[in-house]
Amino acid sequence: MRFQAIFAAAAFVAIAGSAQAEDGSCSEWREAGVIGDLRCETVDGGAVIGAAARASEYAEVFPRAFAIFEDYFVPSEQKVALVLQPEVSAELTAALVADGYKPLPWIDNETKAAMLRDSIVAQVEAQTASLPEAQRAAVVQQALAKAEESAPAHADPQMEDGAIAHEIGHLLFNRYFDGRETGSADSSARYGSSAPDWLDEAAAVALENDAQTRGRYAAAREAYDADGTVLAFPLDTYLSMDHPLLQSAQALKTLKRGSTGAVMLSGDEADDFLEASGGKPAEFYRQTRLFIDYFMETSGDPRILYTIAEAYRDGGDLGGWLAQSGGENGLPTTLEALGTEFEAWARAKLADETA
Ligand SMILES: [Zn+2]
Repeated sequence: MRFQAIFAAAAFVAIAGSAQAEDGSCSEWREAGVIGDLRCETVDGGAVIGAAARASEYAEVFPRAFAIFEDYFVPSEQKVALVLQPEVSAELTAALVADGYKPLPWIDNETKAAMLRDSIVAQVEAQTASLPEAQRAAVVQQALAKAEESAPAHADPQMEDGAIAHEIGHLLFNRYFDGRETGSADSSARYGSSAPDWLDEAAAVALENDAQTRGRYAAAREAYDADGTVLAFPLDTYLSMDHPLLQSAQALKTLKRGSTGAVMLSGDEADDFLEASGGKPAEFYRQTRLFIDYFMETSGDPRILYTIAEAYRDGGDLGGWLAQSGGENGLPTTLEALGTEFEAWARAKLADETA
């Protein structure tokens, strides 16, 4: 999902980059004054705007993500602008949209870590105001060391690349499913496409890299080993449910009119937000990974999701598609049978540590 950068943070410092050799779009935006002196690089399928230690590595995510989308769905004409800032200004959003780019705000890991450190320092200092200075400093150091130990998985550069590919997947699928957006420069006006959430998420998870996929399976196996959980959601629930973060995304949108961006929340706010949303996004993603792999393995067709998406785009649904085309694709012909077969497939997969 688009609004994934929900985490404790107190401040953000924009880092200006050095100018690079620029082609049309970058120099156009620079002349228009919408990117200031931010670094700007165009790549096949889009552009990377802003400075970050791994900016040129982010650029390498694009061709791979577009190629997988072409393999699983169709070639995409959507252009994506990865903007390395927590928020994209209304001016830049308008300029990007006018040139056919979808803005994708992104906070790089180093900046995230710095924001988290700032936030921890501010919190601890506020809580220890009555202590002598030397003691306060010691408590701050302790808190920072503890945070360092529990560094989150997204600090892994491979995981970060996979997460960017996931978000690009959403944008390409939206464009495929609903076509070009018209009439509004507010690119945050909609969560996902008009397809059901499981399908939106399947398109995004399908573009993730090996590191992400291994992480999804590891977490699914952990749940299975712990209490035998195979699927967190029964199939009928899964197929009709809202993305677990949908409400959060919608609430954030009302805060963010006119610009697109990740939103900074304090730790408590972020917790409240995720709780109110119904939680369990990780389980939703895990089940989606399994669902994709089940369809591709069982049908032997890498473009099986595209076939199903086409049915939805024509006004149909999965049940109708199975009745008509399940058999010829080696799949069940009813949702009920699909639920049974999918769970059995997933159970075998999770029980086999080598798979
Ligand atoms: Zn997503």
